[in-house]
Amino acid sequence: MLNIEHCALNPFAANTFLVWDPASGEAAMIDPAASNEREREEMRERVEEYGAKIKYVINTHGHIDHIVGNRFAIETFGGTLLFPSGDKPLLDGAPDQAEMYGFEYQPSPEPDADLNEGTDILLGDERLRVVHTPGHSPGEHSLLYEKGAAAFVGDVIFKGAIGRYDLWGGDETTLIETIKTKILSLPDDTILYAGHGEKTTAGDERRSNPFLASFL
Ligand SMILES: [Zn+2]
Repeated sequence: MLNIEHCALNPFAANTFLVWDPASGEAAMIDPAASNEREREEMRERVEEYGAKIKYVINTHGHIDHIVGNRFAIETFGGTLLFPSGDKPLLDGAPDQAEMYGFEYQPSPEPDADLNEGTDILLGDERLRVVHTPGHSPGEHSLLYEKGAAAFVGDVIFKGAIGRYDLWGGDETTLIETIKTKILSLPDDTILYAGHGEKTTAGDERRSNPFLASFL
């Protein structure tokens, strides 16, 4: 089974997830969000402590708070940078996003490969399945760890809330459709690891998310 740890980083408290297979040490860093030297040091210590060998650095989507640590992660840990091409305009516009929101930004390297539904993410013998979950941003993808009944859902849905759809490329109808057909269709006990805040489950959100009450 994969081990899963997280840190909330940067002024937006974006969650960086470290997911690794203890047998092989193969690891993925999802949404590297470290934005200053203290946070970068914390990530270095964690990766070392867990014995994680970073095989993939993955961005669920292109917002600055989820990509601000890309350069640090790739230069420090290596690995393949997987980024969803539907959000490429956000990556290209990241310096402007950084300035607007006051982030210290070391420009991301260019992605090594597209994150899409055909991407195979293997960590040792464990597999993450990539699912297109647009609406918060057009290119956003979630990562399903079916064997572990878990999903990394970026900014699609949060505990008791849903993602914004008023930013570039966002769309409310698309987001609600994504949540209904791709997230809440998962087994009830599936743990949802969101891009901000605490984890939740598909069942809890189906039953009690106030933003979804009128759509379900
Ligand atoms: Zn976002």
